[in-house]
Formats: sequence, C-alpha cells, structure tokens
Amino acid sequence: MSARALDAGRVSPAAQTLDALPLTSLRGVGPRSAQKLAGFGLETVQDVLFHLPRRYEDRTRIVPIGRLRGGDHAVIEAGVDLAEIKYGKRRSLLVRVSDGTGSLLLRFFHFNRSQQESFVRGARLRIYGEVRRGPSMAEMVHPEYQRLGDDEQVAVEERLTPIYPTTEGLHQLTLRKLSQQAVGLLAPGRLPEWLPERLLAQLQFSDLQSALRYVHRPPPGADVAALEAGVHPSQQRLAFEELLAHHLSLRRVRLRAQHLRAEALDTPSPTRQAFERQLPFALTGAQRRVIGELLHDLAQAHPMMRLVQGDVGSGKTVVAAAAALQAVGCGCQVAIMAPTELLAEQHCANFSDWFTPLGVRVGWLSGKVKGKARQRLLSELAAGEVQVLVGTHALFQGDVAFQRLALVIIDEQHRFGVHQRLALRDKGRAGERVPHQLIMTATPIPRTLSMALYADLDTSVIDELPPGRTPVQTVAIGEGRRAEVVQRVRQACREGRQVYWVCTLIEESESLQCQAAEDTAGVLAEALPELNVGLVHGRLKERDKSARMSAFKQGELDLLVATTVIEVGVDVPNASLMIIENAERLGLSQLHQLRGRVGRGTAQSSCVLMYRAPLSQMARKRLAVMRATNDGFEIARQDLELRGPGEVLGTRQTGMIAFRIADLMRDQPLLDKVEDTARHLIGQHPERVEPIIRRWLGHAPRYGQV
Ligand code: ADP
Ligand code: MG
Repeated sequence: MSARALDAGRVSPAAQTLDALPLTSLRGVGPRSAQKLAGFGLETVQDVLFHLPRRYEDRTRIVPIGRLRGGDHAVIEAGVDLAEIKYGKRRSLLVRVSDGTGSLLLRFFHFNRSQQESFVRGARLRIYGEVRRGPSMAEMVHPEYQRLGDDEQVAVEERLTPIYPTTEGLHQLTLRKLSQQAVGLLAPGRLPEWLPERLLAQLQFSDLQSALRYVHRPPPGADVAALEAGVHPSQQRLAFEELLAHHLSLRRVRLRAQHLRAEALDTPSPTRQAFERQLPFALTGAQRRVIGELLHDLAQAHPMMRLVQGDVGSGKTVVAAAAALQAVGCGCQVAIMAPTELLAEQHCANFSDWFTPLGVRVGWLSGKVKGKARQRLLSELAAGEVQVLVGTHALFQGDVAFQRLALVIIDEQHRFGVHQRLALRDKGRAGERVPHQLIMTATPIPRTLSMALYADLDTSVIDELPPGRTPVQTVAIGEGRRAEVVQRVRQACREGRQVYWVCTLIEESESLQCQAAEDTAGVLAEALPELNVGLVHGRLKERDKSARMSAFKQGELDLLVATTVIEVGVDVPNASLMIIENAERLGLSQLHQLRGRVGRGTAQSSCVLMYRAPLSQMARKRLAVMRATNDGFEIARQDLELRGPGEVLGTRQTGMIAFRIADLMRDQPLLDKVEDTARHLIGQHPERVEPIIRRWLGHAPRYGQV
C-alpha cells in the first residue's frame, strides 16, 4: 500500500477527499484484504470509483423463455421438468426447465448432491444467465439461480446490475460491495472536479460525482440502450476525462523532453548537401519539406522526437539518409534500426551504396554477428570510426557502446509503444545527453490513434508519392482459378516484368509457412519451366536470403516466391505483379504493406488477391477495400473501423489502450475537444495535470516518466 494511503488512514474519514481515503475505511476491508486489493491497483476509495463497470446486466424484468435469443443475458422464471446426470466426456448435471412459452436446459459441470436434489420436478426457480444455442435446445451454462417457494413473490432488481472487470482472486461481488460503499461516500468537495466548468456546460456533461454515481448504480428507468452502447452522457463525461488523462500523460512526456539535453546538430553538413545533389531523382516537395522539419528539430539542443508517416513507396529512406548525414556532418554517430533482418539488410545495402562514396563508414550489426567480427565492430563503434550503424534490435544490447550517438532512427516500427520508445532513447543516453529520435512508419496512423497514442511525438507526413507512379490495379480471384493466375505470371515475365508470389498462412508457425512457400516454388518452377524461380523465407541462412534478394533485384530471377518476410520495406522497382495467396486471411494493413512492394516503378502494376471460398463477411469487406483504394490512410481508417484499435495496434500495445471506459472509435467526436482541453489545462491550470493523470493512470505502467 502506498504511503499516501497509509498516512491518510490516520485522519478522520469524513474530512478526507476520496483520493486520500484508504480502503480500510470501508466496511469489510481489513489490513489483509486491503493489501490484496492494493495488488489489483485498488488502494483508495477513489481507485474503486474509477474502476468502472465494463457492462451491465438487466435483471430488472423477467423474460419469457420463448423470447430468448442466443447471447442474451436474461432473468427467467421457470419450473423444473427434469433433472438428470449425464456421463459424457465430462459428467454434467442437466436440468430442463420451462415456463409455458418454451423450455431451456441448465447445464452444470460442477455440482454437489444437495444442489442436484434441489432440482425436483415442479420446483420454481429464478434464473439468471447467458443464453447459448445448445445441441437440442437453448442452454445456460452455470447460471445463477434461486429456488422460489411455491407462492413466493420475489421482486426483480430495480436497477441495472453493474459488471466490473475482474481478475482471478478478485470477485465480482466484492467489487460490487466496495463500489456500493464508495458511491455512498460521494459528497460535494470529496472528489475534486478538474474539468473547466465552461467545458462541462458546453458539452452538457454532468459533474464528476453525478457521472460516477450514475455509471456505478444506474437509477431505475435508466436508458439501458445508451448505457450498453457506452454513449450515455455520464459515460461520455468519464470517457472524455480518461482520454484527456492519456493525452496529457503523453504531452507530459513531450514537455519533459524539452528539459533534456541533446546534441544541437546545427552546422551545415556538406556531406548531406552532396548526397542530395547526387541522387538520381529530384526529391518530392513533401520529402524536401519533411527534411526541413527534421533539420530544424535536429538543430535544437533538446531531443527531437518525431514521427514521419508516409505511405509505402513515398520515399522515407532518403529522408532518413538526409537526417543521418546531418548528424554525421556534425561529427556524431547514428543508429538505424529496422524490425526485421531482411529490411535492416536492405537499408544497410542502400546506405552503404550512398554513403561509402561520400567517405562515411557504415557498420552492420544483427544478432547473428558474433565473435571476432562483433568485437571488431564494437571497438570501431566505440572509437567513432563507424559513423552509421544499421541493424536490428541487436543495436541496443548492453555491450553496444557508441562514441557519440546523436540520432536514433527507427524504421517501419509503428508497433512501438511509448515506453519502448523511451527505453530506446535512454539506452542511447550519454551522461546528460540523449539522442534525437526519428521514427518512420509506413502504416499511416489515423488521427484518432495518433492523438491518443503518439501525442508524445511531433509528426511529419510525406503526403506525396514520387512522380510517375501509377496506382496498383487489384483483383480478387478464387483459388479455383489458379491456372489462370499462373498464366498471368507467364505473360508478365514474357513482357520483361518481375513477379512476387507471396505464400501466407494464418498459423503462427514459421516452419509451416516456409514449407508452403517451398512447395509452391516447386510447383511453379515445374509449371513455368522457362522462368527463373527463386525462393526466400525466414528459415534460410542470411547469406542465401540476401543472395536471392539481390539476384531478384538484379533481374536474374523472374519470379520470387516468398513468405511475408518481404512484407516491409523491400524495394525492387521492376517488380510489377504480385500474387498473394490466402489473401482472405490477412488484415488490411498487412495486405497494404505487401502490395506496396509493387507499383514502385513506372510500369502499370497489379496485385492478385487469391482467396479460398466461402468468404466471411469481414474478409469480403477487406478484399473490397483493397480493390477500391491504394490510399494507405483510407485503408488504415477502414481497418480501424472493421477491427477496432486494439486489434489494429497488435498485442504489444494492448496494454497501452486498456481504457477503462473510453473507446477510440466510439468516442472519436470527443477528440478535438480533448486536445483543446489539454492545451487549456497545461496553459491555465498546470496544477490539475498530475491529479488527472494519477486518477486514471495511477497504476498503469509509468510511461509518463522520463
Ligand atoms: P518507403 O517510404 O516505402 O520506405 P522507399 O524509401 O523504399 O519508400 O522508396 C521507394 C522507392 O522510391 C525507392 O526505389 C526510392 O529510390 C524511390 N524514390 C524515393 N524518392 C524518390 C523521388 N523523389 N523520386 C523518384 N523516386 C524516388
Ligand atoms: Mg521503407
């Protein structure tokens, strides 16, 4: 338990604000259970009040069995027809009940004799549970129930029943009792209101206390539909404050960064200028603008934290190169990290080609660089001889020490959470100084998400593709027409184009995926004997993988069969046809990433999404989106809509968006105001910032710390 809560215990409860009132002041909570509750992040009465119901159960009316549908949570009142024990795979007690409108089966896997005996024929029961479709009739598995006397009339609940998020060891009923008492303690002045009054009036939000009371104990006659949908004004009031808390905590990270020191990379870099002059193409306007924004940030004496978003193929790599050369020109070192070995290697090849003629040393480090080679690299790095180090996560292992690291570039890493970003920055810390950070993402992040999750970063957008690109034409074709697709590959190669054939499997097993790719490569080589067919997958030796990639790049291979290892970053402009197998199983952003490997040259490119029927509704929608647009932002927006933010961000970030009540999709309309309010509070009421964050994120991982 925190010192805050312990100290508070000595003062009389009635005089305290609820954020200082320990749980031991509630009935039924002794020191032992208080300690246990603290383990769940519940230390004060305020904590209980902000542990919000996840949903509600409507036990206010009795539903006739005949009207139940699968998935309903409902109260029924029925008589027992029959009770029997069934010995199947698992012993279970089955009780058939009926109410004149229909019958229902209650199923118990755990039961005792007296329970079994209570289900006598004709006994009346009040039952609460979730309806499921069973093999013969609707069922409830382990419902709550109560035996009623013959003529007994038991009132139904008057209010909706709140259901709280629980974990093992924390019982629903405990939470219900605690919240009941906590709500009882709400009184004027006991829970500070931090939102500006003007805002509350403007958005017609109720005050904090009423909102909390409402969501914990909705009054009789409450608007059930609104509550279930999470759009009741009381819920919106709280969701707003929660989004505000998250946003403020990220802004705080950014504010604090301004007090940290970094190398001011402000002297002109002739190397960078030479690099830009010798490129075989002219930079796009967007590239020039973003480079300008980076140079401006890098010249400051506090660390840049900037996210560069640009759709696949928008040319982020040269932008990164320019930033790197600016740092090198100022006598500093740069680390460039990519999420996969393949992509890191490709960067290494690109940067070596570009930088070596300019007299800049590029080094390579991955987990596979070992022994003497690694030792040599590390000592050259420590001596400052290697100026640009490219690699994977291995760049940030404990024994990797730079002489003067001033800039960290992270490519294609939209799955990074804020704590990981901060951890990386800290690893590059040298005494007082931290490196500048540039994060590049190819998956455009819809504004919704970027505001809630990336508000600690400044953002630049490369919103223009290099000239001469024609949008990729996309078709969806059923598996049954494979022969046609093979024919199409033959035709494309005959015209001098190159082709990717991507094998995907839903199973996480890499080896299965590699096997599938191997098999496919064999079959295709046989069907297309006139073509040179290559194969890359994750289980090849690094050397073989890069040899085959470069053979493809050189045009020595016509057809490259690959697993999703080529998903990010791979760049072969002459490849203009891509076949994606099992496309129905991939998410939109992954499909977009894959498709982004073609359409990089001037030839008209196409993408064939091969699927196996029947398509689920979701899959059908995804394929339709892919056919309709090439715009990464639009695709990301649709992805968010179809899947929701938790899924879109992937498991690594779910911890960050475990909102208590807010929902990024549903609450989008609030976001502009959240941003305004954050600005207003930071400017006018800076003393409120910490308490708001603490109230909502107090027990979350401390990503506000720098
Ligand atoms: P991404 O943003 O997906 O990382 P890349 O940096 O790999 O894109 O660039 C895609 C391709 O476009 C590369 O072949 C690159 O050389 C080329 N390219 C980048 N900028 C330009 C430009 N301004 N004009 C023409 N081609 C460009
Ligand atoms: Mg890239």
